[in-house]
Amino acid sequence: MKFETKLKAAAAVVILVMSTVALIPLLVNRHVAETMGDLKAAARREHLYQSLISMLRDAETGQRGFIITGKEEFLQPYYAGTSMIPAVLLELKTENANPREQGSLKNIEDITNAKLASLSDTISLRRDSGFEKPAQVIAGGKGRSQMDLLRSLIGEELSDYTQRRNELREELLITSNIAAYAGVAATLINVVFLLGVLLAAQRALMQRHRAEAHANEITGELRRAATLATLRNAHLQKSAELLHSLELAEAMEETSEIIAAYLPALLPALSGSLYLYNNSRNVLERSAQWGSGDEEAEVLAPLDCWALRRGSAHLASGPAALACRHGHAGAGAMTRLCVPLITQGDVIGCLTVVGDALAGEHGAEQGQWIVQLAEQLGLALSNVRLRISLRRQSIVDPLTQLYNRRYMDEVLKRELLLAERKKGAVTIVMIDLDHFKRVNDTYGHDGGDALLVAVAAALRENVRACDIACRLGGEEMLIVLPECSLANGLARAEAVRLAVAALQVRSNGQILTATASFGVASFPGHGRTVESLVHAADLALYQAKHGGRNCVMAAQNIEEVTVGL
Ligand code: GH3
Ligand code: MG
Ligand code: MG
Repeated sequence: MKFETKLKAAAAVVILVMSTVALIPLLVNRHVAETMGDLKAAARREHLYQSLISMLRDAETGQRGFIITGKEEFLQPYYAGTSMIPAVLLELKTENANPREQGSLKNIEDITNAKLASLSDTISLRRDSGFEKPAQVIAGGKGRSQMDLLRSLIGEELSDYTQRRNELREELLITSNIAAYAGVAATLINVVFLLGVLLAAQRALMQRHRAEAHANEITGELRRAATLATLRNAHLQKSAELLHSLELAEAMEETSEIIAAYLPALLPALSGSLYLYNNSRNVLERSAQWGSGDEEAEVLAPLDCWALRRGSAHLASGPAALACRHGHAGAGAMTRLCVPLITQGDVIGCLTVVGDALAGEHGAEQGQWIVQLAEQLGLALSNVRLRISLRRQSIVDPLTQLYNRRYMDEVLKRELLLAERKKGAVTIVMIDLDHFKRVNDTYGHDGGDALLVAVAAALRENVRACDIACRLGGEEMLIVLPECSLANGLARAEAVRLAVAALQVRSNGQILTATASFGVASFPGHGRTVESLVHAADLALYQAKHGGRNCVMAAQNIEEVTVGL
């Protein structure tokens, strides 16, 4: 049976018992009232019987007094007694007489009537014939025997009524006892059932409390899960944006800026740094930081970081933890998570995150997420590196490390457009090594290559950072000088010429030297397009070759070129 059904059944029993108990006083009262009525009726009948005897006695006393004295006033008790007797007899006959008593009553009435007639006769006799005759009748004893018989009959009835009264009293006692026991029993039953109901209710209450606590626990877990899911979603979105931005990065410096811009939003309550190995791979340099950043050093030695030593994430929380040595003084007590950036088994850097939130409620989840982020960052950064390297390979000449013709075309086009817009100048210097065939012939191809590498280095050293030195092919080179006038371009070309002429390159135990010829042309005076400008510089170079080599020649202006052609 289900618990609730049991509870309802017990409550129904309690209600039934209580209703029954409530009925007991009513039933008892009714029974007591009936018994009291019977008692009263019995007492009344006893009283009537006693009154009858007493009235007859009074009548007899009056009769005796009159007979003895002959005085009428002595008949007063006689009249008083006899006048009431018929009414007493009538009441005895009509009210509550049982069949046995009715038979006895008939006898009593007959004897009473006979007695009354006898009294009346003697009184009449006294009046008519004096004292003697009635005295003889009385002495005959008939009146006395009638009275004795009546006393005996009435005595029997009275004794019956006494017995009946005793029986009724007994009944009353039993009824009151039954009522008392029933009350006690009902109370006990109620107590038992109420205790049962109480225990059951307490059990139900405890079960409900347990269920509520369980429900609260589940609600808390759900809320925590929802918060985590929201946090994770935000993180996923932001990290996707970060990774997408990294995909578009053109240089490693740009990746640092992107990471420094995104990490404060991704890890708001935390600060940290991103370290990348330097070119010689002996130390890691800080390439990005966010938050306060005071806790971290600029340079990190691999042995100072437990994450780098182990090759896996390392969390240090509290003063007792194994702390890395790269944190600044005072930051030791903080919680720090270091995660190495690994791609294809190669450690390329390290992400360090500092803040007490790592030891907080969602610290573990956040830690896991930071490890995942570090994995993605490592991959993204190595992709950027690969892309930069591929791009460099596609625009840089492998022998001289100068930009190639393709890149020169691209850059010159862009610079011409810029100069057009800004109304500025761009100068190009075309360079061709003199008698290079001879160098190859004399010192071999290796010697020629060594000389080419040295000339390229001299070019790079003698131009500004913004100038672009390219190798067009063979021993022909070109320098793009943005925002540079013809005069300045000529001066720059002269400086390069001197630097090349001063070169002494050692190859296979021999010293090689070189000279070069220079043709200089400027935008917009010598051409407004890449082709026309290069053509003008080429013509100037031809002039230089023609003019004896190892010299710098400026291009003719457009009109002159056009006329010349
Ligand atoms: P000039 O320009 O002074 O008139 O004489 P030149 O000897 O330099 O003439 P030219 O331009 O005809 O010869 C260029 C030579 O450069 C031809 C080729 O052997 C050599 N050369 C071209 N590319 C390379 C290279 O990559 N390495 C080496 N070692 N030599 C190269
Ligand atoms: Mg040539
Ligand atoms: Mg040449």
